[in-house]
Amino acid sequence: MRFHVVVQTLKGNIRVFCRVRPLAPGSSDVEKLESGQPVLAFPPAGDATTAGVELTASNGNKNTFTFDQVFGPTASQEEVFEEISLLVQSALDGYKVCIFAYGQTGSGKTHTMLGTPDQAGLIPRAVEQLFTAARALEASQGWTFEMKASMLEIYNEEYKDLLGKGPPAGKKHTVTHDERAGMTAVSHLEAVECADPKAVRALLERAARLRAVGATAANERSSRSHMVFLLSIRGANATTGQRLNGMLNLIDLAGSERLKTSGASGERLKETQAINKSLSALGDVIAALGSREAHIPYRNSKLTWLLQGCLGGDAKMLMIANVAPTLSAANESLCSLRFAAKVNATEIGTARRSTSFAK
Ligand code: ADP
Ligand code: MG
Repeated sequence: MRFHVVVQTLKGNIRVFCRVRPLAPGSSDVEKLESGQPVLAFPPAGDATTAGVELTASNGNKNTFTFDQVFGPTASQEEVFEEISLLVQSALDGYKVCIFAYGQTGSGKTHTMLGTPDQAGLIPRAVEQLFTAARALEASQGWTFEMKASMLEIYNEEYKDLLGKGPPAGKKHTVTHDERAGMTAVSHLEAVECADPKAVRALLERAARLRAVGATAANERSSRSHMVFLLSIRGANATTGQRLNGMLNLIDLAGSERLKTSGASGERLKETQAINKSLSALGDVIAALGSREAHIPYRNSKLTWLLQGCLGGDAKMLMIANVAPTLSAANESLCSLRFAAKVNATEIGTARRSTSFAK
């Protein structure tokens, strides 16, 4: 625990993981080039706190990357969660946390974030861990916690409530930031209180059903929209007067495959522009934070506008670059790994907790 805190501080508040999905469930293989060279390999990184991944393109060119963690095709959901559980836990200490799944369609983002009933992903595991930890703190240390969850889709630069009915006719969701409290509010957004294990289970079942829809009819749309799971945590300690506001955002990003606007028209063109715009806006915000620019362009997309209170000096960020293990995906995998490497090279200040003492 101590060690984790030290490493985190030295590295700033951004971490980047890479996860390679299996070719088929249970398989440990990745595809091979004609030369027999696997398209992805896992060379050691040379130090104990990072890991390497090497991509060989169809022309034989090798590209090696180093990230904080690299998960190969056999890594379980549990192993991935183990590496983020301390980060998740810090939301209960009053930190703002964002975890992104980035990658082309079919690379394993939704599997990583939501998973399946028998292979639960990060969202259900995170909610359960926080719920259990909050109850333990309440029982032992005089805290009371209020945890509320929402799910939001961002499609064509518009917010859509995935759990509730959304705004009344003629109205839109609006995002407001209370800088003093360090909290973000979205109007007309359903927030489900995670008050007991039953409520938590019901919420996760709703999330799982949404995913089931995603796998069939709306899959096209789910690959072309961002899905944001927001958990806001308000804590108060009756004994010490301490208060805290934590936020955990888990984001299943739209497919990062390069989409050409040429030839696209109508709805398709609009979708394409919206995805290109918001993914590049995310990269721009991270870059601006890293170079400590005075102006951070949060306004340039609905995604960065929503998350602005949780992206930056005080907040912690993790990006998981998901890649497919196939030759046909190699070019897109290279783009994803390059994007992730850029994020990894960014250094963002030291996280501060959002706590205060009532007078
Ligand atoms: P994305 O959300 O990036 O489009 P998905 O998460 O839907 O990709 O993954 C594509 C397919 O691969 C799905 O059928 C999913 O169940 C499967 N899959 C992805 N990652 C894994 C994994 N680590 N283990 C087993 N199956 C996986
Ligand atoms: Mg998906």
